[in-house]
Amino acid sequence: MQELEDRIRREGTVKEGNVLKVDAFLNHQCDVALYDAMGAAWAGHFAGRTITKILTIEASGIGMACVAARHFGNVPVVFAKKAQSINLDGDQYVTTVYSFTKQREFPVIVSRRYLGPEDHVLLIDDFLANGKALRGLIDICDHAGATVEGIGIAVEKGFQGGGDQLRADGYDVDSLAIVDSMDPKTGEITFRH
Ligand code: 5GP
Repeated sequence: MQELEDRIRREGTVKEGNVLKVDAFLNHQCDVALYDAMGAAWAGHFAGRTITKILTIEASGIGMACVAARHFGNVPVVFAKKAQSINLDGDQYVTTVYSFTKQREFPVIVSRRYLGPEDHVLLIDDFLANGKALRGLIDICDHAGATVEGIGIAVEKGFQGGGDQLRADGYDVDSLAIVDSMDPKTGEITFRH
């Protein structure tokens, strides 16, 4: 998606440790018109699929998932919560996710009330790096017996391999910008097309 690539080039900053900061329009200040265009792009890609729910993970995925839902017939958006501790009363699906940015594992939960075997799910997240966050969301869908129809990502860092592994596993991953390389010293970013 050209507009997203242009914004990343203009306003993104490359940090040490393979971290791309896009706080100006995606992760802190939110450009809702851009979110809307992203939602339209995912709706185009996943046209023809039955989507009953969008699943994302707090916090950065929530805004873009909610705007995207407007392009999928206003399906409900469920966000997996990062839990401090696991409450084992059985009313929630639980998995563990290793956080790329925090460099530690934490439990992630979704209430059984909001996801079940009848659901056809579109997963949405802001970034795809090694794929751990998405693997956690897929694990939750597996626990629920829900069908993963596809994965919509704003920015995939292609050089970290998580997206290609998911594609090799048969998932339909639609990343709106795929970063091929980024240099923290020069700030140069190249994209895969
Ligand atoms: P993964 O689990 O695929 O390794 O990493 C994806 C998750 O880590 C996303 O949910 C995102 O919040 C965070 N993340 C990974 N890489 C970056 C990055 O370069 N910049 C930002 N802002 N977040 C990232």
